[in-house]
Order: sequence, then C-alpha cells, then structure tokens
Amino acid sequence: MRLIIVFILTVIVSGGILTYLSINSISSFKELTEKKIFEEQEKIAAQISSHFYNALQETVEEFTGQVFTDVGIDWHALRSSDSLQWITTPFVLDGAKEFQWPWYLEDPEISSRTDSRGFHQEFSKGERAEFQQQNTGQAATFYRSALRRGQNSSDSAQAYNALGRVSLKLKRFDEAIEYYSGIISSHSSILDQNGFPYAYYATLNLLNLPDPSHKSIIHQNIHSFLSGLVGGTIPLSISTEEILTQIVTWEEASQLDENFVQTTRDQINILLDRIHFIQLRGERLRQSHSQETYAEGLQQVGDFHHINQIHSNPDQILLATNHEDLLVGFIVELRKIWTKVMESDIAEHTEFSYRIKLIKRGEEDNITLPESGYTTSLSPLVQAYRVAIYLEDVEVVESYVRKRSWMYGISLVLLLGAMILGVLLILRDILREKRTSRLRSEFVSNVTHELKTPLTSIHLFAESVLLDRVKTESGQKEYLQIILRETERLKRMINNILDFSKKEKGKIEYKRVRVNMTALIQSAMKDLNYWLEEMEFTVHTELDEGLFVLGDPDALKQVVINLLDNAIKYSDKEKEIRIQLHSENDKIKVEFSDKGIGIPEDQLDAVFEKFYRVNNTKVEGIGGAGLGLTVVKEIIEAHQGEIRITSELKKGSTFTLLLNPV
Ligand code: ADP
Repeated sequence: MRLIIVFILTVIVSGGILTYLSINSISSFKELTEKKIFEEQEKIAAQISSHFYNALQETVEEFTGQVFTDVGIDWHALRSSDSLQWITTPFVLDGAKEFQWPWYLEDPEISSRTDSRGFHQEFSKGERAEFQQQNTGQAATFYRSALRRGQNSSDSAQAYNALGRVSLKLKRFDEAIEYYSGIISSHSSILDQNGFPYAYYATLNLLNLPDPSHKSIIHQNIHSFLSGLVGGTIPLSISTEEILTQIVTWEEASQLDENFVQTTRDQINILLDRIHFIQLRGERLRQSHSQETYAEGLQQVGDFHHINQIHSNPDQILLATNHEDLLVGFIVELRKIWTKVMESDIAEHTEFSYRIKLIKRGEEDNITLPESGYTTSLSPLVQAYRVAIYLEDVEVVESYVRKRSWMYGISLVLLLGAMILGVLLILRDILREKRTSRLRSEFVSNVTHELKTPLTSIHLFAESVLLDRVKTESGQKEYLQIILRETERLKRMINNILDFSKKEKGKIEYKRVRVNMTALIQSAMKDLNYWLEEMEFTVHTELDEGLFVLGDPDALKQVVINLLDNAIKYSDKEKEIRIQLHSENDKIKVEFSDKGIGIPEDQLDAVFEKFYRVNNTKVEGIGGAGLGLTVVKEIIEAHQGEIRITSELKKGSTFTLLLNPV
C-alpha cells in the first residue's frame, strides 16, 4: 500500500512539475523566439559586413592585378579599367599632384615657342600678313609654306590651326574643315602656347561653321574629338565642359540620327563624370597625396586607403594608394557592391526569413521598420548608410510560438497520459501479484486440508482392516475399495499440482497420438463412477462415436476428470450431470453440464487463474486447490482447443470444449 502511495505521489509531483515547467516555457517561448531572431539578425549583419569587405578587397585585387606591373603602371590597362566590373573612375596623380589620369590640364601654362627655325620664319610672315596687313590670302600662302617646312607635330598643328582660321575668313569652308580634321585626327594632343589643345579650337570652329552641308563630316570629327578625350589622348581642362555643352547644342540643332547621338551622349557622360570627379575630389586627393602617412584609424582595404568623403558623394567609396610618387585609386559604387553582397549566400541557414535593406542615415525615420527590425552599420567605410534587417513576415513569430505551444501541450498531455497508464499498469500488476500471493497462501491451507481428508480416511479404514474390526469378507473388501478410491482422489489432486508446477517451469511435453474421445470420456466416467453412484448422481450421456483428436490421452483424460470432478463437487441438491460429445462446424464439441451452484458472472474468467476459487461460503466448504481449471485450460490450449463457460447462479454451469478432429 505504501508503495502505491509513493507511486501516485511520484506521478502527481512529477506531472505537476512538468506541467509547471511547460506552462513556464510556453510563456517564455516568445521571449526566446525574439532572442533567436535577434541573434540571427546579428549573424546576418556580421555576414553582410564581412561579405562587403571581401567584395571591396576583390575590387582592390582586381584593380591591382590589372593596373600595377613590375615596372610601374600599365597605362593601357588603367584607361580601360572602366570596364572592370565594380570599378569606376580610376585615377592617378603624379608627384606634382596633377592628374595624369584622367589627363587634366590644371593651369594651362603659357609656353614660349620652340618651333623649328625655317617654320618659324614663314609662320611669323603669315601672322604679319594676316593681322598687320590684313591680307588673308597672302597669309594663307605663308602658312602653307610654313606647314611644308614644319618638322614636328607641334609645327604642323600650329600651321593647320592658322590655315583653318584663314580659310574661314576667306569663306573656304571645305578647306577649313580639312585643316581642322587634320588637327583632330593627327595632332589632337598638341597644345598651343597658351597651354590649350589645338583640338579644342578645331572642334569649336567646326561647330560654328555656318554651312549646314557639312553635317556628317563635322559629326565624324566630333566623334573623334570625344574619343580622344575619353581615350586620354586629348587632355581635359576647365573649358572641356563648355565644349561638351556646345556639342550637345549643335547635335540637337542638326537633327542627326538617333544612333549617332546616343554614342556621343555616352561619351559625353563619361567625360562629365570625370570632370566632376576632378572638380569635386581633386582638392581632397591632392591633400591626401601630400600626406606622408595616412591618419591613424583611416580605413584600409588591402594597401588601399579609404579617402575621407566629407562633402562628397556618399554613394561612392574612394580607395587610393601610394605607388612610388603616384597616388593611384578608383571609385567603387556602393550600390554595385551592395548588389554583389546581396547575391551571395547571406541568411541561408536561418530559421526565419528576413528582408535586408540599405538605408541612408537620416532617412531612417521615413522608412517604417517592423518592430522586429534591426539596424546596424554596414562597414566603417560607409558612414552614410545603415543596414536594416527585419522579418519578412512579422506574423511568423506569433504563429511559430502558437505552433510550438501546441506541440508542447500535446506532448505534455501524451506524456502525462503515458505516465498515468504506466502507473495503472504497475498498480494492476501489484494488485494481481498481491491477489496471487493471497491465493497462494490459501492454496497451501486448501491443499493441506485436501490431502488430509483422504489420508485420514485411508488411515482409518486401513487400521480397521488390520485390527480385524471388520469381520465379514465383503465388509473388508468394501473398506479396501474405499482406500483405493481415496488413493485415486489423492493421486488426481497430486497430478494436478504436479502438472501445474511443471507448467510453471515450462517443462510440460504432450504426446501426440490419435485419441478416441468417446472411449476417453467413458474411461474417465468409469474412474469417477464410485463417487457418482455414492452421491446418487444421474448422468446423461450423448456420445457420438468415431470422433478422434490428436493429442496426449493422459492429459485429455485429466481434463475430463477435472471437469466431471468439479460438476460433482459443485452440485447441490440437484445431482444431474449431462455429458455430450458431437461434431459441430468442423470441431469436436464436448459439453459438461451440471445443475449445481453456478459461478457468478463477474468471476467466469477468473476461475481459470491459478489458485483462484470463487469467493463464497458454499465453495469454501468444498475442498479444492484452485488448480483444476488452470490445468484444464492449459492442456486445451496446448491442443489448439478452446474452453468456454456459461453459468447461472444456483442453476448450474456448462463447460464446453472445442477441439480439432483428425
Ligand atoms: P477447485 O475446484 O480445486 O477449487 P478449480 O480450478 O477446479 O479449483 O475451480 C476453480 C473454482 O471454480 C472453484 O473453486 C469453483 O468456485 C469454481 N467452479 C469450478 N467448476 C465449477 C462448477 N461446475 N460449478 C460451480 N463452480 C465451479
């Protein structure tokens, strides 16, 4: 009993603790989920930061690999480095802090002429004729003669320029175009004594030609001029932007084919970008170039430093490095790198799905982030932006928590159910064990009593015969017969006990022979005949012939004897027994009916249990060990048969055996 209480207490206590813990954990689950989300966001932020830095590092490596060689800078690669994937506007400043790329004339310097002598004489004559004597035709002749004597590109450009000019004055437009085209195509990089490229003058003059019939040749020249600027053979200068504006105006007025214009527009845009870059960043770059060492804490990517971008475009990252006495660098468009970072495998192994956004500082308020949003800085290189990481579906937390709560709830219920079931099973086993042990102790006293009764009779009758108390021979014979019957009764009982104990040890082995059931029942009846007659039983038999089973004849006979013995024992006033043996539905059916005390309905199954005896005074008065039916059932089942009981209190019982015929 104490054990049961301990058990129940254990279940109640552990169940209570479990329930408490689950309720607790469900309520803290939301917190945990939010914490998890926060951790995932932190992880993603770290991934983004490192991917971002790696992407920058790749650009640096790509640039370095392309542009730097063992002997300095690969200028050709530099000029075409615009085509690198993430790099825009590469630049180089020389030791004098001037832009070598994009080639930009900072302060055009007035240079003294270094023309060749023969050329100079003729050219000066031309100038005199043109400006002092106002004789343009004469001037043209001198200039042509100067052109013939010219010894280098600078001479030629100067002569072409002068010839173009006088041709315009003489309204010989075709000639003018020819000279200016000559400058643009062959001498575009030559500067005049004011430090301006002749190509600039040539282009401007071509644009201002009054004759509209030369549209296409002018456009060709514009294209070469722009290509020269883009390719770096013609320098940029403070007046480049003005010329570009004039080109656009001319093109609009000329109504050219859309395709032509598009090419020009693209070139112009590249050039404007470069000019603006120099105007905006030039000063800052010159400053950093003069710094011997970079300020402590300046962000670095490889050997490249991130040049402070105060007052400049926050969408660009400017990286530069000192290479011998040059400052070399380039711009990375933040958006391009960002796109690259977003294409990499960020937030792939997270439990929740997130959206990631780049937000400009100061604009955070304009964007309503969900409550679960998380913002962090992208990189120390990018001060102007922050990264926002937020749940794709805010509802997901709620539904996640709900789902988990359900899972908890269900598993808790299952667990508790299993615990209760376990306890019930254990309790049942305990009760069964207790009952068996009670039955066993009753069995001992029953058996003792059962053995004692026949032994006493045997003792008494044997003594009487021995002491010659019975005088007649028939009397003596009767006494001896009683002794024999009592011995048989003892034998039966001991057989049952032995069988049972063998069965308990699992040692029983049955024979398998053809058994004639009719003969078997008759033989059993014969064994019990004495008792049947003694107690004046009426026995009705309906035994069909020729019914055989495969089995152990001794065991089967014990079954019949046990059932008949019970019918005799548990009959009251009406002493009537019916035995039937038939074949029914492919089975052999044996029925033993009595009109005895009957068995209560709720104990019909229990009577087959070991040591079990029906609990009433009538039965207690009758001897028995509670093993007869246990043995019967065991034997019948070992023969693949079946046993059934029907019974009614005070009316009688019927035991039916169903066996397989052979
Ligand atoms: P035993 O007869 O030795 O007590 P059994 O195993 O043969 O043991 O029977 C178990 C119990 O079933 C009996 O104690 C009795 O209460 C009940 N029982 C068996 N057969 C009959 C019957 N024919 N009529 C009434 N009760 C019976």
